Amino acid sequence: MIQWLDIAVQTPAHSQVGGLLTYRHVPAPEINSHLTEGALVRVPLGSRDLLGVVWAIHNTPPEGLKETRVRDVAGVLEGLPPLPVAWRQLVQFAAQYYQRSIGEVAMAALPPQLRDLNAAQLARRLKKQSLHPTEAAGVAAGLALSAQQSETLVAIEAQAGPFLVFGATGSGKTEVYLQAVQRRLEANPQAQALLMVPEINLTPQLEARVIARFGADRVVSMHSGMTPAQRLNSWLAAHTGRARIVLGTRMAVFASMPHLKLIVVDEEHDPSYKQQEGARYSARDLAIYRGRLEGAKVILGSATPSLESWHHSRPAAEGGRYQRLLMPERVGAGQLPLVRRVDMNNQPRKTVLSAPLLAAIQARVERGEQCMLLLNRRGYAPVLHCADCGWKSECSHCSAFRVFHKLDRTLRCHHCGFTERVPRACPACGNADIAALGRGTEQLEEHLAELLIAVRRPDGQAVKILRIDADSTQHKGALERQLAQVHSGEVDVLVGTQMIAKGHDFRRITLVAAINPDNALFSSDFRAPERLFALLMQAGGRAGRDAAQSAQSEMWVQTFHPQHDVFAALKKHDYPAFAASQLTEREQAGLPPWSFQALLRADARSQEVAQAFLNAARQALQTQGDEDPAFADMLTQVSLYPAVPMSIQRVANVERAQMLIESPSRMALQKVLAELQPVLHAQRAEPQHKGLIRWLVDVDPLAI
Ligand code: ADP
Ligand code: ZN
Ligand code: ZN
Repeated sequence: MIQWLDIAVQTPAHSQVGGLLTYRHVPAPEINSHLTEGALVRVPLGSRDLLGVVWAIHNTPPEGLKETRVRDVAGVLEGLPPLPVAWRQLVQFAAQYYQRSIGEVAMAALPPQLRDLNAAQLARRLKKQSLHPTEAAGVAAGLALSAQQSETLVAIEAQAGPFLVFGATGSGKTEVYLQAVQRRLEANPQAQALLMVPEINLTPQLEARVIARFGADRVVSMHSGMTPAQRLNSWLAAHTGRARIVLGTRMAVFASMPHLKLIVVDEEHDPSYKQQEGARYSARDLAIYRGRLEGAKVILGSATPSLESWHHSRPAAEGGRYQRLLMPERVGAGQLPLVRRVDMNNQPRKTVLSAPLLAAIQARVERGEQCMLLLNRRGYAPVLHCADCGWKSECSHCSAFRVFHKLDRTLRCHHCGFTERVPRACPACGNADIAALGRGTEQLEEHLAELLIAVRRPDGQAVKILRIDADSTQHKGALERQLAQVHSGEVDVLVGTQMIAKGHDFRRITLVAAINPDNALFSSDFRAPERLFALLMQAGGRAGRDAAQSAQSEMWVQTFHPQHDVFAALKKHDYPAFAASQLTEREQAGLPPWSFQALLRADARSQEVAQAFLNAARQALQTQGDEDPAFADMLTQVSLYPAVPMSIQRVANVERAQMLIESPSRMALQKVLAELQPVLHAQRAEPQHKGLIRWLVDVDPLAI
C-alpha cells in the first residue's frame, strides 16, 4: 500500500502551514520497506535532494492535492533508528512556540553532515559506534559528599522535580550533578543524561572532570565549536544510545537521546541559553518541557537563579512548580568574599583604579595571590573624539561608535565589523590631537602595567598581567592556553570582560574587582539589574575558592552609587532579598514573570518602512478582532505597543524597529502570535512596504 508522508525539510524562514511537505513512498512488499514516523529520508525538492524527517504517515492521499504532483521519497538513511517520538514532540512544540517552521527547527537540531554522507559513508560511521561497548570501563568513584550535598542528592532522588538547586558559588553543585547522573546510570543500564552548560570552551575543566569520572567512551560533547565530523559522531553516539552522557551548550537540548532520564542545566540564569538567531528558543525552558515529555528529571542550578526560575520555585502553596533545594555553604568552609564598595565620588576626577584598590592589589600580588579585574568593555576606548570640532568615531553603517583598538591601531565597529586604520588627525578638521573617551580592557591592562611596574612577586619577578576577552581569544586554543596560565599561577593579575567571571574554578584568586559596573544601573532594559547582580555575584564567586588560602578574599566594587540596591544586596551576598525586591517591582509594573512578552522586529531600508510595517500588522490584527469576537476576546488580554526604533537603530545600513507584544496570559499571547504570521505575510505584499527586508519574532525575549 502506498504511504503518503508529511515530511519536515529545511524550508525558508516564515514558510506557512508548519512547513511540512507531502511525499509518496511505495514500499517493496518482499522486504517490508515501510517507513515509520521519525525515519530519516532524502527527498527531492526542485532540482535538489534534501534531508527530511517523516513526521506523519497517511494511507490515503491528502485531500485537495493533485496526486500526480506528489513526488516519491528518494531514499532512506539505512541503519539509523527513527527519531524518537518525544524528540519530534519537542521539535514541534519549539517550532510552534517560537514561531518557526517544524522543518527549520528539526534540521537545525540535526548534524549538518547527515545531509552530505552517502550510504556507504554513513554505514562506516555507524559501525564505529558499535565498536565502543558501553560497559567497557567502570565509573570512577565520586567525592565523599558533604552533609549539604548528600541532602540535596537525596531530595533529588526522592522527588519528581523539576529542581532548582540554589547553591553558593563553590558549594559543590557540580559534584551533586555528577553523582545524580551516576545514580541514574546505575539504576538503568541504558539510561542517558544530558548535562548543559552555558559555554563549553569557557569551562574545559568541567569536560575533563566529566570524562575522568565516567570514561571517555560514555561521554560526548555537543557545541558549535566542533567540526562537522565531530558533531556527527557525537550525534550518532547519542542517537544510538552508545553515549550515556551528552555534555553540551544550548543546542544539546535537541540531542536525540532515546533513553534520556536526567537533564541538568548548570548556571541556568546564563543568557547564553537563549538562542539569538533563527528559532530564538530558550534551552532552559525547553529542558523543562523536554523533561516532562520524556519523564526525565530536570535539575536547574545556579548561585544567582533567573528571577523566572526563582519565582517558579516559590513554595507549592503559593503556586510554585519547581522544588527549591538550598546549598548555602561553600565546600571546605571557604568564605564568600568580603564586599568593599569604593565611592568614586570621593576619588580624584578621572580615576581609573582608586588608591585603596590599587594598594590592595599590590599587597595580594606581593603575597603571591592572584587578582581579577572585571571591565565589561573590550578594546582600548569605546570612542575617539576631537575636542576642536566635536568629531566622534561613528560607524558610517551603524548608529554606533567604532571602538579604538590600540594594539593594532584600528577603529572597529563591534556591530557590523567595519574596520579602518586609526586616522592620524581628525578626519573632519585636521586637528592632530584626537583623544580616547572612556576605557576598555586594553587600556586597563596598559594602565595597570604602569601602576604595578615596581611591584615584585614573592619570587622577585615582575608582575605578570594577562587580558582575556573576545579579542585575546580569537585564535583557536588561545582561551585554553590563557586559562591554563591563570590556573598554573603564572599570572598575577587577570583583566577581562564577563568571559572571566563565569564558572571557572580558579584556586588562587583572592581579590576580584569590578572597575566600572555603573552603566548597567541606568539601562532601559528592566533585566539589567538582574544581569549585573548575577555577573558581580559570579565574579565574586571566583575569589576565595580555596579555603587553604589563609587571607580573607575580597570583592571590590568601584561605583558612583554605592547605596544602590544591587550593591547593597551584593554586600550581604543576599540573593533572596535582591530577588524579592526585583520581583515586587516587576509585579507592580506587570513585567515578567507576571506577564509574557514577545518582540516583533522589522528590518528595512528606512526606519519609516520598518515602523510602518509593524504598525500596519498591529492595525490588521485589530481589524481581525472587529470581525471575530472570539479573537477580539484574546486581543483584550494582549497589549500591542506602537513600533519604536531599536536601541541601536541602524546596523550595517539596515534600519531596525520593534514592537512589544505583552500579555498576562501566555495562552492569549500565543494565540495572537499564531494569527500574526499570516497577517505579516499579507502585509509584506502591500506596495507601501517596499523596502522591508525581513521580520522576526522573539518570544520571551531577554533584552528589550
Ligand atoms: P559549584 O559548582 O557549586 O561552584 P564545585 O562542584 O565546582 O562547586 O565545587 C567547588 C570545589 O570544591 C571543586 O574544586 C570541587 O572539586 C570541590 N568539591 C566539591 N565537592 C566536594 C566534596 N564533597 N569534597 C571535597 N571537595 C569537593
Ligand atoms: Zn576635528
Ligand atoms: Zn558598524
